[in-house]
Amino acid sequence: MFEEAQHLLEKYFGYDEFRVGQGQIVSNVLERKSSLCVMPTGGGKSICYQIPALLLEGTTIVISPLISLMQDQVDTLLEAGISAAFINSTLSASELRETMENLQEGRYQLLYIAPERLESPQFLAELQTLQVPLIAVDEAHCISQWGHDFRPSYRAINRLMSIFEEKPVVLALTATATPEVREDICRILQIPDANTVITGFARNNLSFSVVLGQDKDRYVKDFVKKNVKEVGIIYAATRKAVDHVYDVLMKAGITVAKYHAGLPEAFRQQEQTRFLKDEAEVMVATNAFGMGIDKSNVRYVIHYQLPKNMESYYQEAGRAGRDGLPSECVVLYASQDVQTQRFLIDQAQDRERIPGELAKLQGMADYCHTEHCLQQYIVKYFGEEDAEVCGECANCKDDREIFDVTEDVQKVLSCVIRMGQKFGKTMTAQVLIGSQNQKVISFGLNRLSTYGIMKNMTVKEVSNFIEFMIAEDLLSVKQGNMPTIFVSEKGKDVLLGKVKVQRKGVIVTRQIAETDP
Ligand code: ADP
Repeated sequence: MFEEAQHLLEKYFGYDEFRVGQGQIVSNVLERKSSLCVMPTGGGKSICYQIPALLLEGTTIVISPLISLMQDQVDTLLEAGISAAFINSTLSASELRETMENLQEGRYQLLYIAPERLESPQFLAELQTLQVPLIAVDEAHCISQWGHDFRPSYRAINRLMSIFEEKPVVLALTATATPEVREDICRILQIPDANTVITGFARNNLSFSVVLGQDKDRYVKDFVKKNVKEVGIIYAATRKAVDHVYDVLMKAGITVAKYHAGLPEAFRQQEQTRFLKDEAEVMVATNAFGMGIDKSNVRYVIHYQLPKNMESYYQEAGRAGRDGLPSECVVLYASQDVQTQRFLIDQAQDRERIPGELAKLQGMADYCHTEHCLQQYIVKYFGEEDAEVCGECANCKDDREIFDVTEDVQKVLSCVIRMGQKFGKTMTAQVLIGSQNQKVISFGLNRLSTYGIMKNMTVKEVSNFIEFMIAEDLLSVKQGNMPTIFVSEKGKDVLLGKVKVQRKGVIVTRQIAETDP
């Protein structure tokens, strides 16, 4: 049957062969093994269920939250000569009736359904009589509370799975899954863990960098001007920041578009179209922009502010270079952006999810402070253990001299211990530089032997060094209203002199900005 699958790949889609991972998933499905497919955006997830749908008797159901994309996907399939349809809220009553009739007659090989539909028992009853060999769950992370886009209606997929006489194979697909989300998906959709296929998270044409401690407005202005002939996206965390960056670029004479949920629908549409048609060089947007945007020539994605987690970051940054040409992904880091994200997390989430979200935010902050390969950091985050260094990111290219910073690390660690491991980063930095800050004095921290032992540095520099230590897992963070730091196991080894620590450049603020591409 697999040979037949390869033949259909060529016949309907014109591709010579399956990509890594696709072949594995397709044969799993054909062997009736429910599976989880974790592949980056643009990796080719659709083929994984479209090809089996052509080979299996009956109608494959595809659950997808992206209503705006369903029409496109169905059109593409129809053009290729594959019978397909969708059911979502955009259909009129008569269109819906017609689709249901065709469905009952078995006319479709694929049927796309918005998850909300599954909450209607009446709708499920109408599906019950169908022959459904496969249920594909697109954006499967939406089923997990731990995912970054939890949708309660996804839980109704379980009901769908149980209504058929013969149990359909389930194929869950996602681009963003940390180990805990993966476990959740497998548990809820009853997929054996062993049937998880993770592939190709490395995007070799993307070069990553993190810029610390720079004038961000100047940075984006210079960057965009240096790349005038190219198209890019600048993401900001808040609507206010989007408006601000938009104004900065406008005033610099750049043709810029903007997009956030606070703008009128018609205006947003117009801006999106301008960007898609290359009439605007830069799109400045919140994360409301981009879902389902397939623009291949985006040459750079800059995050003006830190995103809330690595999942969002890689999804957004991954919109660069979909055509395979070299493209850049830059994060502009400032520690107050972590505060902004903490605030947003605190506002929006139900209380139970806050600790998990904060831990993810820490993962994002660690990315900004690691000195190891950035691509490798990302790929490892998504579960590919044996990733290689990319050789292209700012850290790989950072050839500054390496210094032994063991002694400085020990100073910080012993200060943290003397402070009872119950204070945050900034307070610790203040004690180390010997600040006269009222709080430091009132807690009596100026009487500690470690008070002022780094007095040749600024609070910012020491805070930055502490962030580096967190990213290196020498210090851990206890999340809460006021996050505090404590010495990790690895940190204890450094205190005992068992392990040495090295860092590139001196301990002052890193300047890894590489504005010239
Ligand atoms: P995803 O859903 O993972 O984001 P898509 O299914 O939209 O990705 O596929 C991304 C692109 O890769 C599409 O343009 C698709 O036609 C192309 N593609 C998928 N599989 C193959 C293949 N085996 N060979 C060549 N191109 C492929």
